[in-house]
Amino acid sequence: MRIEPASPAAVRDAAEALKKGDLVVIPTETVYGLACNALDPKAVQKVFDAKGRPSENPLIVHIAGFEQLEDVAESWPHLAEQLAERFWPGPLTLVLPRKSIVPKITTAGLDTVAVRVPSHPVALSVITVAGVPIAAPSANIFMGLSPTSAEDVDPAIAERAVLVIDGGRCEVGLESTVVDLSGEHPRILRPGGVTRAQIQAVVGRPLGHLPPPSVKGGPGMYPRHYAPNAKVVIVERINGEDPGLTFQEPRTSEQIKMPDDPRAYGANLYRALKRLDQQGLTAIYVENPPSHPDWEAVHDRLKKASAD
Ligand code: AMP
Ligand code: MG
Repeated sequence: MRIEPASPAAVRDAAEALKKGDLVVIPTETVYGLACNALDPKAVQKVFDAKGRPSENPLIVHIAGFEQLEDVAESWPHLAEQLAERFWPGPLTLVLPRKSIVPKITTAGLDTVAVRVPSHPVALSVITVAGVPIAAPSANIFMGLSPTSAEDVDPAIAERAVLVIDGGRCEVGLESTVVDLSGEHPRILRPGGVTRAQIQAVVGRPLGHLPPPSVKGGPGMYPRHYAPNAKVVIVERINGEDPGLTFQEPRTSEQIKMPDDPRAYGANLYRALKRLDQQGLTAIYVENPPSHPDWEAVHDRLKKASAD
């Protein structure tokens, strides 16, 4: 696989590859994405194949700015403009009525499309130079841990890509918050890099809660997801020398001390789980983070990582 540091030449190569229908791995502020031209059904199929992603799981379409929204979305409510104004570029995805130029394979057959503007400068440049919207799900095999650095990109994924651009560690480290604006009431479909409180501050009132994780909550929502190979067990406190993620001082090299701030924790979670998973452990114990709402996205990922 070809890994290149971010540079104008690497961006140009990536953009050329995307225009030809090839795949590239690019950094975003959430996680590294396996990118393709979102309007090219054959390229999109390659992404589903490489990831082993079920065809019923729609992809997020990445655009370079709000002014490109009209290229992929048929219409949007005023709230979309307010949320975009506040959070784009950034880890907020809006689900809106799909424009027919977006192939059905991209949206898993739905009449809605999920869209966001990433804030990572490399992702933005690649989209701008390619001149097409980019679908870019996480560069990992379906259900696994998402990569938050170039070195954590699964080699099986990287080999399907013409190029992996190394843009450093992902600042957010968790996937975007997905907000559905296609129905009567806005709903958070997936917690992520933007908190519920931040969104509610713009909406002006509380938003509905997610269905319980045991229930399939909608397109592309699965009880088990974002999981390492080891079994993840959530505990109040790690027992003695058990391996895992702790808020205390680590006692062994198989314990990782996690930040007590939810953003910093989120930015380190996948990497920490990956480091322990690489040691071939059968179980990873994770100390339960605080129940404060700002930890919602972290709790969501831990719940899914620990689901059977
Ligand atoms: P990711 O799994 O990070 O690639 O993000 C894609 C997720 O966004 C999917 O798994 C869905 O949960 C959600 N999503 C994407 N498109 C739609 C859509 N049209 N309607 C509802 N949810 C969507
Ligand atoms: Mg993913």
